[in-house]
Amino acid sequence: MSGINLIGLTRSELRNFAESIDEKSYRGDQIFSWIYQYNETKFSQMTNLSKEFRSNIEKSAFLDLPKISDSIVSRETSSIKFLFRLNDGFSIETVFIPEKKRNTVCLSSQVGCALDCQFCATAKMGILRNLTVSEIIGQLLSVIKETKQKITNIVFMGMGEPMMNYNNVIKAADIIHDQRGLNIGARKITISTVGMVNKIKQYTKEKRPYNIAFSLNATNDLERNKLMPINKKYNLKSCLDALKDYSIKLKRPAMLEYVLISGVNDTYEDAMRLSKIIKSLNCKLNIIPYNPIEGESFKRPTEYEINNFINNIRAENTIITVRWSQGKDVNAACGQLYTKNEKK
Ligand code: SF4
Repeated sequence: MSGINLIGLTRSELRNFAESIDEKSYRGDQIFSWIYQYNETKFSQMTNLSKEFRSNIEKSAFLDLPKISDSIVSRETSSIKFLFRLNDGFSIETVFIPEKKRNTVCLSSQVGCALDCQFCATAKMGILRNLTVSEIIGQLLSVIKETKQKITNIVFMGMGEPMMNYNNVIKAADIIHDQRGLNIGARKITISTVGMVNKIKQYTKEKRPYNIAFSLNATNDLERNKLMPINKKYNLKSCLDALKDYSIKLKRPAMLEYVLISGVNDTYEDAMRLSKIIKSLNCKLNIIPYNPIEGESFKRPTEYEINNFINNIRAENTIITVRWSQGKDVNAACGQLYTKNEKK
């Protein structure tokens, strides 16, 4: 393969590409639709382009998706976790989550992660590198090819901290949202963060249309410092202030994610402090029972503990949901299939 990989280019970049090979810029729009709307990876199948144009493209470009090297289907939920092997030999994970009224794909944004959250399997890898736009979009196109399903929702909650790869994640989200491509609504695209306050501020200033989900997981600095070392740089108050600003200026609720770990962040006092936090914000709360990692001492809460914790939360006007495991049998938390394969 020689030339440029067209997967991962935006519509305007494809227009520029068309012009660079002496074609009209609207030809770039046609290629854009073939790649993202029809998920076509062979120029020869792009039948509304002339033969001459197609052979002209082939001289300077190619279409390359990341390769699926392993996958596990959950017997409990039918979720599928895919392991992708990238061209430099690194691997990343992507999860397809089918539900009654929607199909969600959870995308990775980095190979590994630098942020060392104590409950996370990806943290064990350290940071290896950021993913390119092509590798981010490539995960989605490959999952669509493999599952043959229409995807309705995208969450950037796989391996890595999306805000640490801000430009590529935003560009990928823009491509996913583009009406001439995958055409997934902005409010159906969610970018998670453990609290990169500088990036939340930038995001708000740039008025980006996608949802932000804040991974809260502890209700005071003392506990959050232990679970998520990034809190020493951006403490809880600075995160909540940035989220408040985001939700007021962009007129949308912040999503709070709370990984519930038995005996760690599930006490009555935690529920009280959490109530106070959610009352102070326009937000929705998502409780995620912890998915155990091999060799880790953290435990998943029992159903009784989960219900007890939720019953203790006092927040009449806040929507609270529990994201039950997307298949404990496929190790659905990010980084777990990767670490399992590395041990083989
Ligand atoms: S939870 Fe997210 S931010 Fe924290 S270490 Fe894992 S991948 Fe990184």
